[in-house]
Amino acid sequence: MSAFENAMKQLEEAASAVGEQDVEILKEPKRTLQVSFPVRMDDGSIKIFRGYRVQYNLARGPAKGGIRFHPKVDLDEVKALAFWMAVKNAVIDIPYGGGKGGVEADVKKLSEAEKERISREFIKAIKDFIGPKKDIPAPDVYTDSKVMGWMLDEYEKLTGEHSPGVITGKPLSLGGSKGRAFSTALGGVYLLEAAAKELTPGKKAAIQGFGNAGSNVAGFLSERGYKIVAASDSKGGVYTKQGLDVSALIEHKKKTGSVINFRNAENITNEELLECETDILIPAALENQVTKENAPRIKASVISELANGPITPEADKILEKRGIIVIPDVLFNAGGVAVSYFEWVQNNTGLYWKEQEVLDRLKEKMSQAFAEVLDASKKHKLSLRKAAFALAIKRIIEAERDRGNIK
Ligand code: NAD
Repeated sequence: MSAFENAMKQLEEAASAVGEQDVEILKEPKRTLQVSFPVRMDDGSIKIFRGYRVQYNLARGPAKGGIRFHPKVDLDEVKALAFWMAVKNAVIDIPYGGGKGGVEADVKKLSEAEKERISREFIKAIKDFIGPKKDIPAPDVYTDSKVMGWMLDEYEKLTGEHSPGVITGKPLSLGGSKGRAFSTALGGVYLLEAAAKELTPGKKAAIQGFGNAGSNVAGFLSERGYKIVAASDSKGGVYTKQGLDVSALIEHKKKTGSVINFRNAENITNEELLECETDILIPAALENQVTKENAPRIKASVISELANGPITPEADKILEKRGIIVIPDVLFNAGGVAVSYFEWVQNNTGLYWKEQEVLDRLKEKMSQAFAEVLDASKKHKLSLRKAAFALAIKRIIEAERDRGNIK
């Protein structure tokens, strides 16, 4: 099943669980842009790259969502991710629709200069589609604040205006927000704290993916007394019952390019990581990692989705039957877009906040969203995922109705 088919299945299941019938408007994206653009490579050759930007729903505000660089990006995936952004933005109740973008590019095979040229050419290709009141990109897999800086610069050169609100996750010097760099991970940690009374998970965690989201969550959890028993990246993983020294692991990855071969830990595969002895499993890499094949063998009692779409719908059903609690992506990783929203508010007002103010507001957003989703889950006897989707769909449909777009 493709990522978009998965997403539509989730939509249908959540809508039918709460008797919401007018969801036809959410079965297709509002706007889809596919572009191809030439980029001069370091060896003088010219390569054509393909990119996408999808604006899924615009009823509650401008489209909002990241841009990823990945060799396997395609329109189907970007549509799914854009739909999940619409849901996520509604779950945490920020005034945005949903959007997402991607470029088919293998960053590991590119020089820094080639990556910069791709970033700038992509912005040239989508410039008329985006804007601070239309569609606001941000970082995602294999893009970061540096890439956002290049993209903002290109946009401002093309439009001839200072326009920091067109993109979030920017460097601080260009109007970025304090706290944005680690807000996805910290938002998840705030949520686990808010959920601790309800979920009572233990303090052992395994993390798949050790990039921005994964390594930051490892750091925040270990500071709070959690034991990070396993971590992995695209090259493989490491495990130790005693708990990994997270700062040393971050240094090790910086030096060697991977978490593997870390001292005092055993090398494991990504498959083994998902099935290891742990209380909390945190997928923080890509989609479709927990499947119907490995779901019966997962040992964690709580899975917190820091990545987008890491559990397939079939696996979700198996986990639900087994009583494993899933804190869904649209809730657990919403801290990133919450602080992106704060960044945009600061850009629009020109008034910049202290880090503590950003973090206090983030904590409030995450606790409130968890309380609302938990409430819906108890009221309708639904999993947290279905409850989050149902809550979001209700909010989006209400906005569509108030616009007169549906009866
Ligand atoms: P990133 O590029 O910084 O890190 C991705 C990590 O995943 C890397 O360590 C990479 O080696 C690893 N990885 C890639 N393929 C893998 C595989 N097959 N098995 C195991 N590990 C693999 O990206 P990120 O920003 O940390 O994003 C990770 C996930 O979190 C994505 O699903 C993204 O959509 C989601 N997310 C990120 C943010 C954010 O603000 N960065 C916000 C919300 C959601």
